[in-house]
Amino acid sequence: MNSSLSFRCCGSRNLLRRYVSTTTSTAKPTPSPSSSSSPTSTKRWLGILFVTAAAAGAGAYIRSSSPSSSTLNQESFTKYSLVSREPVSTTSSLFTLRPRYPSGSNYDVYEDAWRIGVWSVMFKQPQLQIGRDYTPLPTTAATSLSVDEENDGYLRFFIRKDPFGEVSRYLHNLAIGADIEMRGPQIECVIPEETREIVFVAGGTGIAPALQAGYSLLSREEQQSKDGDARPRSRIHILWANRLKEDSLGGESDTPKIVTQRSSWFSWFGSKSSAQVTLPSDTHEKTTSLIVKELEALKSQYPGQVKVDYYLDEENRFIGKSDIADAVQPHSSTEDSGNTKLILVSGPEGFISYMAGPKVWAQGQELQGPVQGVIKELDLKDWGVWKL
Ligand SMILES: Cc1cc2nc3c(=O)[nH]c(=O)nc-3n(C[C@H](O)[C@H](O)[C@H](O)COP(=O)(O)OP(=O)(O)OC[C@H]3O[C@@H](n4cnc5c(N)ncnc54)[C@H](O)[C@@H]3O)c2cc1C
Repeated sequence: MNSSLSFRCCGSRNLLRRYVSTTTSTAKPTPSPSSSSSPTSTKRWLGILFVTAAAAGAGAYIRSSSPSSSTLNQESFTKYSLVSREPVSTTSSLFTLRPRYPSGSNYDVYEDAWRIGVWSVMFKQPQLQIGRDYTPLPTTAATSLSVDEENDGYLRFFIRKDPFGEVSRYLHNLAIGADIEMRGPQIECVIPEETREIVFVAGGTGIAPALQAGYSLLSREEQQSKDGDARPRSRIHILWANRLKEDSLGGESDTPKIVTQRSSWFSWFGSKSSAQVTLPSDTHEKTTSLIVKELEALKSQYPGQVKVDYYLDEENRFIGKSDIADAVQPHSSTEDSGNTKLILVSGPEGFISYMAGPKVWAQGQELQGPVQGVIKELDLKDWGVWKL
């Protein structure tokens, strides 16, 4: 099903394919080097390839009205039905969708995308004819999907309800059973085959691509070791920041926390009052968030390979320079030459800018821009940096 993953513009929206690297592609797309990289590591990361352009602003207008397809693809919209919407916090929910016409071909499309790295799909808001991107969650032991549902191509999403957002509000107001049209997959970042170490700096719903990156890295490695590959085991360290305690309820950090004091980059989130998701009445302080359960499941599935640290704006615990510096400390198990190390940053625009500098627009394209912010200050060598 590789045709569905062709890396090119599609429909009315010009999409940026955010390649990290690939050992199989003729192009060698890689993450942008930290501006302070050594010449060797700079060479390693020189293969950045910007293939297409991205739409301006937060989303895109859908001008085409191609007929709906029964298998997810980049050209036309495919109908899914909303199976369930479970509150994760008062401002976010876990959506489960199933293809209107279930078939194994959807599963094949997803499999290709999972193998490559981080991917998203675009949802359509039919009344306004606008689209927004959302990140499918991988399947873990915490997932409520059955094998049949997985084979039928069910997808799950962690979506925050923006108080003033057109599409996220629309999605949160849909009745169960309603249709949702989507197209994709859009490859956001190719994780190179030789990657053995990822530090993922996530803010808010930026945790969805972090789960994807963990799943992609570790499930791929699982397959490689079954095939006799004896390279060192991969690791992912996720630093997840949230504004409110309820966003990561039950999450316990693997690293004893260092409290970093400074002002919040989550102020952009704005007021929460007008967009609250109603939590079930039995929800109380001790409930573990569905996303924390997903992270816990990933940790149990790959013991010793996944580390998660939680940060809370509400408790003045912010991701600071020293947290990232600790996370990138060399591990003897992965200090093998030829291994690629990546720092991926995902979250609100202000969060990405603070951590790694803003992405930039040039000639209608959204580009990575130079590495700045906290990560630049760390003066890291040998780490590729990619802003999602
Ligand atoms: C690759 C990718 C993957 C993503 N994955 C996820 C995911 O898994 N989960 C998730 O929750 N989100 C995800 N997002 C974000 C998502 O695509 C949407 O941007 C988000 O849901 C908000 O969309 P919206 O239509 O609800 O809000 P919008 O209508 O786009 O508004 C966003 C904000 O901008 C403000 N705004 C809009 N227009 C103006 C204006 N003219 N002037 C001033 N302010 C304005 C609004 O008040 C609102 O606060 C992802 C984004 C990308 C690019």
